[in-house]
Amino acid sequence: MSEKLLVIGETKDGALRNVSFEAIAAAKILNENAEIIGVVCGNDDLESQALELIYYGADRVVTVKHSALKAYTSEGFGQAILAVINDESPAGIVMGHTSIGKDLSPKLASKLDTGLVSDVTEIEVTENHLAFIRPIYSGKAFEKKIFTSDFPFITIRPNNIPSMKRDTARTGNIRELDIEVTDIRTIVTNVIRKATEGVDLSEAKVVVAGGRGVKSAEGFKPLYELAEALGGAVGASRGACDADYCDYSLQIGQTGKVVTPDLYIAVGISGAIQHLAGMSNSKVIVAINKDPEANIFNIADYGIVGDLFEIIPLLIEEINKVKV
Ligand code: FAD
Repeated sequence: MSEKLLVIGETKDGALRNVSFEAIAAAKILNENAEIIGVVCGNDDLESQALELIYYGADRVVTVKHSALKAYTSEGFGQAILAVINDESPAGIVMGHTSIGKDLSPKLASKLDTGLVSDVTEIEVTENHLAFIRPIYSGKAFEKKIFTSDFPFITIRPNNIPSMKRDTARTGNIRELDIEVTDIRTIVTNVIRKATEGVDLSEAKVVVAGGRGVKSAEGFKPLYELAEALGGAVGASRGACDADYCDYSLQIGQTGKVVTPDLYIAVGISGAIQHLAGMSNSKVIVAINKDPEANIFNIADYGIVGDLFEIIPLLIEEINKVKV
């Protein structure tokens, strides 16, 4: 029988997050001949999520349905996934480096008494080794890690390893595993979400981020328009959040979210090291700033020196022309 690799699917508002599909692709890189087993946990019907995992490359899926899994808790999900691991005895595990992944993976690794390489952005496969590349020092350098054990357990950074093409012709077995969940000390009574609209910032392919240069909450409106025209999400520097121009949930950087979109447009952001820590691995960076000496231009692929309030409406106009 071929080796089994477990991919832990993560849902948000009932739908799987893209990073779950990227994790399947990562598992295929680890061993293209392995049997990829997806896992989804929750309290609702998990059939549609299980099917999505199969469409994106999982060979089969184990679902775990339990009232204790209605909302994420590390105790509940930890027990559920450990039950799947004990049942399936996989040879490795892949999951997303998300808030849940960051919480759950070290707990699982310690229970399994195995190592963990977190925040992987690239996997290097050679005849002799399997190496995992991950950013360090706030993205200023990369390190390469190799497992000394033969049980790779990794979390992957969203938006770095492309998922496979969705193929609805793919089929696979879906099996529900019954488990007992005990000793839950954390009970989630209510989840209050900040009102966020549109594309999820940490998974967006395009991010339009505003800084203190945007000058007000009103000034962010054209950034939302630009993001919408590009099918992207709005982010912000801490300077903009501190000034109350936008919510802290939009903050990108060392103490905010880490994003790696295909296109990052930094608008009125100076490019402080703490901001760069959250976005410097973006594939293409465009900076708009009236100060030609602004540090952001040092990492930008394209720079526009000028007043953002003149440039953004022109960009929106041109993009909308192309879209028509
Ligand atoms: P500023 O530095 O004030 O830059 C505003 C820019 O807008 C300037 O470059 C200016 O030229 C330009 N501008 C002004 N008007 C216009 C205009 N009309 N048109 C075009 N350009 C214009 N910061 C983060 O972003 N994320 C973090 O996670 C983070 N974590 C931190 C953690 C610690 C421990 C510390 C100490 C700091 C942290 N910071 C973080 C703060 C960081 O050091 C900077 O203060 C912050 O990033 C600055 O935000 P800014 O670039 O929006 O503002």
